[in-house]
Amino acid sequence: MARRKKIYEGKAKTLYEGPEPGTIVQYFKDDATAFNAEKKDVIEGKGVLNNLLSEYFMLGLTNIGVPNHFLKRLNMREQLVRSCEIIPLEVIVRNYAAGSMSKRLGIEEGTQLPRPIIEYCYKDDKLGDPLVTEEHIAAFGWASQQDMDDILSLALRVNDFLAGVMYGVGIKLIDFKIEIGRVFEGDYQRLIVADEISPDSCRLWDIETGRHLDKDVFRRDLGSLTDAYTEVAKRLGVMPKSSAPQGKPTLIN
Ligand code: C5P
Repeated sequence: MARRKKIYEGKAKTLYEGPEPGTIVQYFKDDATAFNAEKKDVIEGKGVLNNLLSEYFMLGLTNIGVPNHFLKRLNMREQLVRSCEIIPLEVIVRNYAAGSMSKRLGIEEGTQLPRPIIEYCYKDDKLGDPLVTEEHIAAFGWASQQDMDDILSLALRVNDFLAGVMYGVGIKLIDFKIEIGRVFEGDYQRLIVADEISPDSCRLWDIETGRHLDKDVFRRDLGSLTDAYTEVAKRLGVMPKSSAPQGKPTLIN
């Protein structure tokens, strides 16, 4: 009985070698971090909810033809995904001003933007994921012009999909972050949506009440994070079968 090989441990997820070449097992932890890990806690059940919610969103994207890394969910905390080479950018799409954009530009949180605004941050924890422009991305070779065209198109398709799904359950999609990976198919490379899509990486506000249903609940001490994520999962009909969060990963082959 061999243990799966750990490839990478991040703040909210651990990646293990998958059973087939080109696959990875993505394990969702209960750890919550904010402000570049200056604030930390363990929120029981968060990993289960994010695993289910990310599966739901990625499957929805597959159904409308937006390529992404999701293959299948393995259990309550793990999913099998395609391995890919992550482009070192956080791609942020904003529909309403909030968070760092509100701070940077002095725009009141919740102000609707004239159109979706895309921002790029360079993925580097030590630097605090700084905002960069397309000039930096081209000059430092993080992505080509063709990649940038594809990233923009993917980001806007994800935005339309997510905004529509959330609107259908009475939630406003304020903004979100995605990561993009490269996969190689013969001589060709293709870009796909990777990492996760969950309330950890989106801002979601209840349309009626303005209640925050995302990680800002943790960042700003607004109450129970599990309650907020559970509310999103309930509205989308993706609640875990058992109410007891599953604690231990199944890592033995
Ligand atoms: O903090 P900021 O306003 O720039 O965040 C914009 C969006 O990107 C938010 O939905 C936030 O949750 C997400 N984000 C993320 N991971 C980061 C930074 C931001 O998921 N490292």
